[in-house]
Amino acid sequence: MRGPSIASDAERMLQLRCIVCHLPFDFARNETAVVLRHIAYGYDFVHAHHESTALKWIFVDPEFDRPEFTHDSRRASILDVAPPDGWTAVMPQPPERVAEGDLISFQPLGLWVLVEHRDGSRYVEGLVRDPEWESEPGGAEFPEGENGPRDAVGYAPSAGHAGPARLARWESIISARHHGNHVPPSRHLPPLEFERSAALSLGRP
Ligand SMILES: [Zn+2]
Repeated sequence: MRGPSIASDAERMLQLRCIVCHLPFDFARNETAVVLRHIAYGYDFVHAHHESTALKWIFVDPEFDRPEFTHDSRRASILDVAPPDGWTAVMPQPPERVAEGDLISFQPLGLWVLVEHRDGSRYVEGLVRDPEWESEPGGAEFPEGENGPRDAVGYAPSAGHAGPARLARWESIISARHHGNHVPPSRHLPPLEFERSAALSLGRP
């Protein structure tokens, strides 16, 4: 089913590893990556049977000195991943750049992830992990974040390739969020195939 080009893409794509045992998650064998939120940085992931270990870790820091990881209020776990195929998250520029009329930047995705929410619903979103943070706790980010003024407003196939209509849509979301309105991102995604999607759908009433 998967051609050679996709296979080589898969080899290049970011590998999610458990923050406790450091082994990569085997999504093809139905392993699940529990989502953990780092107290000071971004996110990380853990096997379900290593979750209690990670939740006991203390972040020793004069400012914190509290548990290093907690759960995310919305995202429970990652069920599957897909290669990013060059897609980017469309990010708002910092306020000083926005004031100069420069509203958007494009951040390359590390992966597409199939997320299960705490209410059982599933959602596909991008994931970013900077190479220099590859082995650091809390090194992953969900660009969509909490749909706030600094979070991604959508996705683009590659940096800079977007028509005026899409640019206008992204800019309107940035502007609305800047004024305190809660606006979801533009959900233009590529057709993605997750191997576990079908099995999961069958397993649900
Ligand atoms: Zn583990």
